[in-house]
Amino acid sequence: MTASSFEAARLTVRLGAVAANYRECGRLAGPAAVAGVVKADAYGLGMIPVAKALAAEGCDSFFVARIEEGVALRRALAEARIFVLDGASPAAIPALVAHKLTPVLNSLDEIAAWAGAARGQRGGLDAALQIDTGMNRLGLPPYEVTTLAAEARTRLAGLRVVLIVSHLASSDDPASPQNAEQLRRFRTALAMLPPAPASLSSSGGILLGRDYSFDMVRPGIGLYGGNPQPGQPSPFAVAAALTGRILQRRRIDKGEPVGYAATYRSARPMLLATVALGYADGLMRAIGNRGVGAIGGVRVPVVGRVSMDLITLDVSEVPEALSAPGGTAEFFGDTIRLEELAAAAGTANYEILTSVSPRVPRHYLGEAAR
Ligand SMILES: *Cc1c(COP(=O)(O)O)cnc(C)c1O
Repeated sequence: MTASSFEAARLTVRLGAVAANYRECGRLAGPAAVAGVVKADAYGLGMIPVAKALAAEGCDSFFVARIEEGVALRRALAEARIFVLDGASPAAIPALVAHKLTPVLNSLDEIAAWAGAARGQRGGLDAALQIDTGMNRLGLPPYEVTTLAAEARTRLAGLRVVLIVSHLASSDDPASPQNAEQLRRFRTALAMLPPAPASLSSSGGILLGRDYSFDMVRPGIGLYGGNPQPGQPSPFAVAAALTGRILQRRRIDKGEPVGYAATYRSARPMLLATVALGYADGLMRAIGNRGVGAIGGVRVPVVGRVSMDLITLDVSEVPEALSAPGGTAEFFGDTIRLEELAAAAGTANYEILTSVSPRVPRHYLGEAAR
């Protein structure tokens, strides 16, 4: 018996589906280039295997949030363009230079600091600029864009601006008027600044149409099989599944309590399965008495509270052969979509993926050669 056959819980990652989703982005946004957003350990799926699978599809540009993520990715991909969304704080500049990371500069101060570093480099430095078009999170606000536009030659001296970026706040909702407004503001800013390749869309923006694609799109959640616009049909294939092993099965009578604080009481005799997944694995405690699991494609209700390591399912309606100890129950994957679990937990598909804890072994299907 291999060690993996003892695994209590597992996050199965289909690298083939990640690759197919990458190609789908290219089909939807082409001729724009498609970068891979692999921050937060590729949303929990595993940054290095995911980035290698994307690179095998021809992806040569990646976005991370933290500089540490960029340093780790550089070790795996020597040639790729790696953008760091956190920008270029003075403390980060030596590591950005040493690891050939391209900061996404978010303010005039960062531009000045990075341009200062560029003066010490033969040939200057590459940079991306982020323009805030209304999200008010990161990026140059309009008054800084105005200053930069007026003084571009001096302020950008020594820098090669390889990308101008902005980010949509409401692309999960195609009906939001904020999308068109941000598009308008982005075009205005681009017209003021020296010409450079431009990028506006994450996964949701890709679904808004080619007007939003510009020269590069930056999908994250779509690559990982999340629906960027919950409520609309998704073009993306399921790429990750969270499953746990059934540890024990028992019959209970009508009127028996289940789990901590006895928050559930059976209305009839039932068959329960206890599964080795809990909130320490990232399965939100909020799905107690609300969520569903799936066994053999059959949906089964969560009964009682979610424990740290365990969750209990009502398996009365499942063929008994499938609910025996050693079997597995899915919490997201082919039967239960990320968005359904997210709704039950009161959160978003993004947080479901990034919450799967390091305790859960990642199992890769279709792994690119290492
Ligand atoms: C996280 C992020 C993305 C990817 O967004 P998804 O919605 O996951 O596709 C793209 N751009 C920026 C600036 C981001 O922060």
